[in-house]
Amino acid sequence: MKKIKVNKKSAQKIQKGYPLLVEQDFLGKIPADAMNELVELTDESNQFLATAYLSVQNKGIGWVLTRNKEKIDGSFYEKYFAQAKSLREIYYADELTNAFRLVNGEGDFLPGLTVDYYDGFAVFSWYNDFCLLNKELITSAFIKVFPEIQGIYEKIRFKTELADYESKHIYGKFAPEPLIIKENGVNYATYMNEGLMTGIFLDQKNVRLKLVDGLSASKSLLNTFSYTGAFSVAAAFGGAAQTTSVDLANRSIEKTKEQFAVNGLDLDAQKIYTMDVFNYFSYAKKKGLAYDVIVLDPPSFARNKKKVFTVEKNYGELIENSVDILEKKGLIIASTNSANLSRKKFRQIVEEALEKKSVKFKISMEENLPADFHTRAEFAEGDYLKVLFVEVKK
Ligand code: SAH
Repeated sequence: MKKIKVNKKSAQKIQKGYPLLVEQDFLGKIPADAMNELVELTDESNQFLATAYLSVQNKGIGWVLTRNKEKIDGSFYEKYFAQAKSLREIYYADELTNAFRLVNGEGDFLPGLTVDYYDGFAVFSWYNDFCLLNKELITSAFIKVFPEIQGIYEKIRFKTELADYESKHIYGKFAPEPLIIKENGVNYATYMNEGLMTGIFLDQKNVRLKLVDGLSASKSLLNTFSYTGAFSVAAAFGGAAQTTSVDLANRSIEKTKEQFAVNGLDLDAQKIYTMDVFNYFSYAKKKGLAYDVIVLDPPSFARNKKKVFTVEKNYGELIENSVDILEKKGLIIASTNSANLSRKKFRQIVEEALEKKSVKFKISMEENLPADFHTRAEFAEGDYLKVLFVEVKK
């Protein structure tokens, strides 16, 4: 294994358990033949710090695997898969939920990969070439620890020359299409092999649970950036009087109808629009529409014909527009999955927008990632989800 020196600051970070490596951590240029390999990281005086791998990904150029002197082989992966499995016992035992995250990358000491469970099937996501190159070793270890898994799919979530596809079935049985999974008693139609997305974002399960438990009972709910309408379905299941789902993508209408249908929920009370959210705000204002609850869950970055949306620049506009079409007393559920934005900064953006609208407001609850998206305190940016429940009085 190649030995590579990191600078003093980086050595301190590594000793504190910070796992992500960036170019600035290294003294001098990284030798090209060390890329996509295991390396031994040492401090400036050649003392062992950690075993890591180097591989380019969206962010960073490698990950620390362990600060112990241990071999990175099948049993290494088995050990951490077993640990990840034991942390999910409550989800395995939960009869109302059969889809959740099994392995959350660096949060489970397995950086560069995540594994999601969908009722007997596993979906691997690879984030760099190192993991992809070690796929056999990693998936074999996984199957030993999770022998109950019937089939595996993989998603390639980064730019690579090693694969010319985004999604593929790689092991065992094929899942039915759709695969109807359950979360807190609600059915969701999912598709294991349709591009990168499956039909549900499992990280929002705590917010959906609040809706299922009646947060919007007897109320009207507007779900913006609705994708397959999961929040709308959870709200309808929890007794919402009416839901409206708005998404730019054409696929959304059929997908959303399907989610209501697999729960036997009446479609008559639901509205679904294929529209830019900002155009919908104008439309709703013109029509004098008002909602009791508005969900804002935009992607962290989006581009359409006219404009580029970033959370930092445009979230305030979403809040301001929402206030205009909220009932006199309403609730805004403001969510972002932007890892770059701190919790504090997000709160500040939301509060500033509300102050601009001169309304009374109270942040009554907050949510972050559910426990199956296990994170580590040493890597704060891993805890990316921020959700504020804001009670607004106009
Ligand atoms: N809130 C959803 C997930 C949202 S994913 C859920 O919990 O299931 C982001 C969605 O935003 C995508 O479906 C995308 O089509 C949509 N989108 C992006 N820009 C948009 C815009 N300007 N107007 C409406 N929808 C948009």
